[in-house]
This record gives sequence, C-alpha cells and structure tokens, in this order.
Amino acid sequence: MLKKLLMLCLAAIVLLAGLWQLARQPDYQLFGTLVPRVDTAEKLVALTFDDGPTPFGTDRVLALLDEHAVPATFFLNGRAMAQHPGLAHRIVESGHQIANHSWSHSRMVFRSPAFMRSELDRTDALIRGAGFQGEIVFRPPYGKKLFVLPWVLRERDTTTVTWDVDPETGLGPDVTSETLVERVRNEVRPGSIILLHVMFRSREASMAAVPELIETLEADGYRFVTVNDLIAMSPGNQALGN
Ligand SMILES: [Zn+2]
Repeated sequence: MLKKLLMLCLAAIVLLAGLWQLARQPDYQLFGTLVPRVDTAEKLVALTFDDGPTPFGTDRVLALLDEHAVPATFFLNGRAMAQHPGLAHRIVESGHQIANHSWSHSRMVFRSPAFMRSELDRTDALIRGAGFQGEIVFRPPYGKKLFVLPWVLRERDTTTVTWDVDPETGLGPDVTSETLVERVRNEVRPGSIILLHVMFRSREASMAAVPELIETLEADGYRFVTVNDLIAMSPGNQALGN
C-alpha cells in the first residue's frame, strides 16, 4: 500500500515538473495563436522590451531608438502604466507598438479564468487610453502559460507573442553589453523576435547593448519592425496591423 502511494506521489511530481516545463516553453501553447518568431525570408527583426514602463528606463530607451530611427515593441504592465501615467502615451507617440504583459506581472498559471480576464482587460484599457490603436497582442509574465490562460486568450482571440532570441537568460549580473550583442548575433535569423529588459537599473548592460545591437544587425542587413508589422508581413499569417 505504502509503495503504491509512493509511486503515485512520484508520478504526480514528475507530471507537475513536466507541466512546469511545458508552461515556460516559448514556442509551445496548448490553445490559440502563439508567435515566437515569424516565418519569412526577409531580414526583418522585432526588438521587444518587457516590463514597466518606468521613469528610469522609458526616456532613455526612447532616446536610443529615436537616434537610430528604429521602431520597437513594448510589453507593458498595467499596474506600472497606472503608477506612471503618461509614459505609455510617450512610447506610442514616438511611433512604437505597445502590448499587454499583464496587470500585476504574476505567474499566470494555476489561477482562475476571472483572474486572467481581469489582468488582461485592465491592461488593455490602459493601452487604448495611451492612444495605441493596433491589435493588442499579449506576452505572459515569465513566458508562463498552461491551460487556463491559453484558453482565455483563445476565447478573446488574443495572439500570444513570445520570442526566439533571449540573450539575457542564464547570464550572471556581470554580463557585458558586448556579450549580449554577440549572443543576439549568433541566434538571430530572419523573422526573429528579440527579448530584452531595460526598464530597471539592474539591466544596465541590456540598455547599453541597444545602440550596438541596432548598428550590428543593420550592418548585417536586418531591418527593424514592430511585432505587429512583422506578423503582418509574414506569408500565411493573419495581418494584425499596427
Ligand atoms: Zn516580464
């Protein structure tokens, strides 16, 4: 009896570990549309920034993008938008795309559909309030999604956008901007979606990598577009407009 129980526990642990792994896969989702990159032969690439907006990061990154005349996509948290009114509006006015990265940045697994809907709706409302008119795509916090979130997203016809180039993960706090740029250069391909975090002081290297990253990829023949434009330009994908 005890042995059976033990086996059952073990099976449950293995199953949970498997589900946890599945939840964080950037290129897999149970229901609805998931875009980790776009299938195109053209050398197009989308630069995406997660979290915030913060007063610390927003103006700095906008200035860098403006200097290089490059559009980007900002996945913002509703709560931060509410705390710092005006920042999201500034991002939109500068010609960039803004998108939904949840209200509170909680892990959106093992939560109720009502929780998911509230996280999505409140943030969508602020995105519209900031003046963004294109389709609102969503990126789950920590890339985590399992059953309920994809179900709710499909019900709303919301596209999930993850990434295929993530230069920051697995590198320690002493990472240099050169390492980040090198990593992007090794992993990027036509249609790639690059993930960076620049909104907090701890991400100084990522912020410093932005100009070099743009210059390097442009020298390699890449052109930067927003996520919605990237999706719209891909053959066989539904046009989202910007
Ligand atoms: Zn995030």
